[in-house]
Amino acid sequence: MTIERLHHIFLDSTGVSTDTRNIEKGQLFFALKGDNFNGNAFAEQALTDGAAYCVIDEEKYNTNSSFTLVDDVLTALQKLATYHREFLKIPILALTGSNGKTTTKELIAVVLSQKFNVTSTKGNLNNHIGVPLTLLSMNKETEFGVVEMGANHQKEIEFLCEIAKPDYGYITNFGKAHLEGFGGFEGVIKGKSELLHYINENGKDFFYNADDALMSEKVIAQNTFSFSEKKGANCMVKMKEANPLVQITFDGIDINSHLIGSYNFTNIAAAIAIGQYFKVDTPAIKNAIENYIPSNNRSQLIKKGNNTVILDAYNANPTSMKAALDNLSNLKEIKKLAILGDMFEVGETSAQEHQAIHDLSSSLNFDQVYLVGNAFAAVKSANNDIHIFSDFDALKDSFVKPDNATILIKGSRGMKLERVLELL
Ligand code: ATP
Ligand code: MG
Repeated sequence: MTIERLHHIFLDSTGVSTDTRNIEKGQLFFALKGDNFNGNAFAEQALTDGAAYCVIDEEKYNTNSSFTLVDDVLTALQKLATYHREFLKIPILALTGSNGKTTTKELIAVVLSQKFNVTSTKGNLNNHIGVPLTLLSMNKETEFGVVEMGANHQKEIEFLCEIAKPDYGYITNFGKAHLEGFGGFEGVIKGKSELLHYINENGKDFFYNADDALMSEKVIAQNTFSFSEKKGANCMVKMKEANPLVQITFDGIDINSHLIGSYNFTNIAAAIAIGQYFKVDTPAIKNAIENYIPSNNRSQLIKKGNNTVILDAYNANPTSMKAALDNLSNLKEIKKLAILGDMFEVGETSAQEHQAIHDLSSSLNFDQVYLVGNAFAAVKSANNDIHIFSDFDALKDSFVKPDNATILIKGSRGMKLERVLELL
């Protein structure tokens, strides 16, 4: 079957599905394979459940005239996504980076939605399947696409760019995340920069934070749009305060966000700069940012009795951990606690990075620090206010409920540190 024909079938369908557990009537089912499943075996079921058509890649399952057999279902999905993206002829902005992609993506989407009909990545669907699904969620009404791209090894962003063919790009930062797969910090810079190179060669403009020295060094002056707290950049956005919510001054007005932490300032500033570039009015930008409320354990502010919790248990790596600790230390509150879980996927420098986080939290103005996990259990500590546990159950047994404190909870997803809320 030609890609044109498959695209016709797609346009006639009610959308794409890759999972028979939540198939909707009239959908085009792609029988993907995973480590533990073979979608081909579910194609008949997909039709029974309402799918209009199935794309499969194993001859023996080719039993129905509503099936089409291709060489590889994943490749067909990716090719269809690219074809659809080119068919729609809309501007697409792609973003990647080590930290803050989803938050920034959502902020950009709410800002641009003030002026355009925007379709953006749902949740965290940012990989070789998520990016095609995002493109295929765009339709004739879509005027602008915002696509999150995630990666944990070289050439992955380049590949996602070949699929999405973005016109605009933004890299949130180069941080110590997925060090293992990228081969160290230099590897992260190289891997994430694939977006910058793609935009330089094939796209229009690249957005960047001029106050990020490393980013400024990597970006070539042509075809860029910069933002900064200082004069001289294309867009000036200043942080007024982060105690704990981020307040911003832009274009002579104050913007009060619902986001915590000075690290979120950069994410908001990027969305404002991109809004300015696409000529969204300042009052509309303010309205969009002020109405955005984060969810999913990403830097949420929660009241628990007389304690205030900064719940950031969604993920952690050395860079975001440091940013969260610096932020806690800058808060004006008197009594501060940090409850930190292991950082995963750090690779060979794991012991060193966990020791560094221990040393940093020991040097800051915190009342108590709780470190949880096997990697933290191996650090050297001589500070009596630092309590170390190999797992959550051990923490639970000796945890003393604090009073009138501001508490940061942060760790990698697998640590599920949101469980600490039950102890408060
Ligand atoms: P993922 O790799 O899971 O897709 P992401 O890059 O999309 O993550 P977010 O989900 O937006 O990132 O944020 C996750 C956490 O990263 C936040 O809760 C916060 O702790 C931290 N973070 C967000 N923005 C920044 C930033 N600019 N610098 C450092 N840390 C940040
Ligand atoms: Mg994300």
